[in-house]
Amino acid sequence: MEDLVSLCKRRGFIFQTNEIYGGLQGVYDYGPLGVELKNNLKASWWSSMVYERDDVEGIDSAILTNSSVLKYSGHEDTFTDPLVDCRKCNARSRADHLKDNKCPSCGSNDLTNPRPFNLMFKTNIGPVEEGASFAYLRPETAQQIFTNFKNVCDSTSRSLPFGIAQIGKAFRNEVTPRNFIFRVRELEQMELEFFVKPGEDEKWYKFWIEERIKWWVNQGVSEERLEIYKVPQKELAHYSKSTIDLMYKFPHGTEELEGIANRTDFDLGSHSKNQSELNIKAKVIKNNESNSKLAIQEKETNEWVVPYVIEPSAGVERGFLAILNEAYRTEEVNGKNRTVLALKPHLAPIKAAIIPLKRNDQELVTLATNLKTKLQKLGMGRILLENSGNIGKSYRRHDEVGTPLCVTVDFQTQEDNTVTVRDRDTMKQIRLPAEGIAQYLKEYLN
Ligand code: ATP
Repeated sequence: MEDLVSLCKRRGFIFQTNEIYGGLQGVYDYGPLGVELKNNLKASWWSSMVYERDDVEGIDSAILTNSSVLKYSGHEDTFTDPLVDCRKCNARSRADHLKDNKCPSCGSNDLTNPRPFNLMFKTNIGPVEEGASFAYLRPETAQQIFTNFKNVCDSTSRSLPFGIAQIGKAFRNEVTPRNFIFRVRELEQMELEFFVKPGEDEKWYKFWIEERIKWWVNQGVSEERLEIYKVPQKELAHYSKSTIDLMYKFPHGTEELEGIANRTDFDLGSHSKNQSELNIKAKVIKNNESNSKLAIQEKETNEWVVPYVIEPSAGVERGFLAILNEAYRTEEVNGKNRTVLALKPHLAPIKAAIIPLKRNDQELVTLATNLKTKLQKLGMGRILLENSGNIGKSYRRHDEVGTPLCVTVDFQTQEDNTVTVRDRDTMKQIRLPAEGIAQYLKEYLN
């Protein structure tokens, strides 16, 4: 973990937020390379969940959430962690994270009884600070998918089964944020709510568990470091019929990377119930049941069905950490240490570095700049002009941040328009016509 934290800071992947003011616990910023890796990871998820399927729509909803949503979803009452105080050193901990019932700070066993601590952040809406004018920062992106269920159904004429996907920030006032970006207070989730006919839920639950494992493996996560933990009945979240935690062997221990839950019709059902009550109170005249129900009308039978929901919910930060952990390695080459981030090419923050052999040679720099501009226009991600003038150092710097290919423009390029392409993993160099680089890169990145 120390190696990863140090690389992240040194090379601009992750910074402690507001560091010059002492930071904010459990909150991080992503630097020039971090934002690229994070965007690539999210794009890969979006592509596999939305673009490569024909039964999923995407949305991007608000973070500020009407408090009623989280009241009726059950979060106000149950989205809590058990909190204990140490009477000796006043440290606060999560009761379910204690070892041998001892304070993790001082080792004392003089602890208070656990009491529920709600993890949701509240904020004020508008200029009035008191009263009912508050909203929550969403603790999961899922609720906004449920509250938009009818909007999506009505605007896309979907029928079951189909899903709604969303990537976005969520906020949890974790009692003890820790292990770098593993447990943070401001996080990002990649969530799919997949709506199915009641009775078909078990089948789809199994389907999504398998799909998600395959996806993680495609991101470079080794299957041996993944394991499935079936959450016991008494530990299930209030909405869940069954849940598995997809566990990953992180540097600090084996913990949850993604949760896959059968949320049944709990959320749509409870928002529907509440909507009907509100309608009755407001004396809304109902034309049909669909006014108040978050339900979908079956095309064959015309019956209104409240679907069951299967939810694969993954954390971007935990994915980021797992992927870095898999990719990071050090090795000895010709008596020298080299650090390599063997990221899958589609995740690499920089796809290729274009390096003029001599820094001050105007002609070489112009050739390299033109090649960079041409490749950048292809939309494959960031192509960087690396004008440092030291090839060996450039290779090492790019190995360390996972750039799959380095393309060197040298004196021979001036004569025959060929360039040297050097592969991060094999360190092999080949000579190719500059004209063919675009195609080569395209194939390599796929
Ligand atoms: P944990 O038991 O580790 O607190 P959880 O069961 O509360 O996690 P879920 O509610 O299932 O987590 O959230 C879905 C996913 O969101 C998790 O698998 C994880 O990847 C991510 N996630 C949840 N809380 C955090 C957090 N505090 N920091 C980073 N990622 C998080």
